[in-house]
Amino acid sequence: MKVLVINCGSSSLKYQMLDMTTEKVLAKGLAERIGIDGSVVTHQPAGKDKVKFERPMETHKDALDIIMKALVDPNHGVLKSLKEIDAVGHRTVHGGETFASSVIINNDVIKKMEDCSTLAPLHNPANLIGISACQEVLPDVPMVAVFDTAFHQTMPAEAYMYSLPYEIYEKFRVRKYGFHGTSHRFVTLKAAKLLGENIGNLKLISCHLGNGASIAAVRYGKCIDTSMGLTPLAGLEMGTRCGDIDPAILPFLYKKGYSMEEMDRMMNKESGILGVSGVSSDFRDVEAAAREGNKRAKLALDIFFYNVKTTIGSYVAALDGVDGIIFTAGLGENSSFSRQKICSGLKYLGIQLDEEKNKKRGEDIIITTPDSMTKVMVIPTNEELMIARDTVELVSKMK
Ligand code: ADP
Repeated sequence: MKVLVINCGSSSLKYQMLDMTTEKVLAKGLAERIGIDGSVVTHQPAGKDKVKFERPMETHKDALDIIMKALVDPNHGVLKSLKEIDAVGHRTVHGGETFASSVIINNDVIKKMEDCSTLAPLHNPANLIGISACQEVLPDVPMVAVFDTAFHQTMPAEAYMYSLPYEIYEKFRVRKYGFHGTSHRFVTLKAAKLLGENIGNLKLISCHLGNGASIAAVRYGKCIDTSMGLTPLAGLEMGTRCGDIDPAILPFLYKKGYSMEEMDRMMNKESGILGVSGVSSDFRDVEAAAREGNKRAKLALDIFFYNVKTTIGSYVAALDGVDGIIFTAGLGENSSFSRQKICSGLKYLGIQLDEEKNKKRGEDIIITTPDSMTKVMVIPTNEELMIARDTVELVSKMK
């Protein structure tokens, strides 16, 4: 089965064309600046050079038209005809309490996704635009929605409820949802394989540390707590997001003259690693600045490592022990320095890092010594593959 995976943002559209008999990526690419001057599609067929198509794209449908042509082009295409596309999997951000797993998209699902849009006003409308554009371009192809929040729907109420008046939950569904669920699900399933254990016997802590960062506590394959909340702003300090802060800081700043919009921008775009270091939101730049003696860069990283360590600690408590800790995403997969810093504060878990293994990149690997009480793993995430797998599973059942 050949599956097209789509991840649609407000002005961008990422895609991957996968052959699911081999789980190989045939082509991938990105449409950027949709509806803005300078729109461009970058298309990368596997094993060949990238090609760029710079032309006006008013809508996501315009971008998809270019992508479809690229997929069947005699030179840089990977399909003979669009009829080879058996299904489309859509990354969708917020499934609210409605979606606890991936679903085949139909009119009822679209309506329910629209209802969830108040919870993710920036993301869900963009995902819906992507779905409707795909339906226009590939009208008879079955489509699946895979939600970033779904994996976390197994959290117990004591983990997902905020202690606000209960009516705030009843009226507005204000609660913890969590994000990066597709990634946490993918890496915890892979961790079980790597450890040679049944996922049903394992207590795992998954650390997705990228520009956006979150940690999930996963008991016997089910998520029981995660660090992001109603929105992806909660939890750890991130590239530009502040993570958890005292909520009373908002009215305090409001009285000092900051508007809601300014505070929103500050917390989402001007805080975190960037806000504290003043250097960059990119961990590589901040690590380099810290090595050169920049005190604020070092502080930004120390805050991050402390956040990760203390969140792991609280999830060890939530899980009543832990068998394995997983590092994934940009920083988690690539920064041996960060992994070493975080793990050096977890001696009480009997963690013994193998320094040589910690330096390896790009493969699933256990980076602790064989006698380490808790195993630490690096597992590159692959959200697109997880989306494609769900798509194959659901579409196969339709037939
Ligand atoms: P997202 O998908 O949330 O945008 P990624 O998972 O791609 O983010 O992660 C991006 C982050 O990973 C960036 O801050 C980048 O600096 C960091 N990163 C990537 N490679 C390295 C590395 N070798 N060392 C340190 N940080 C890295």
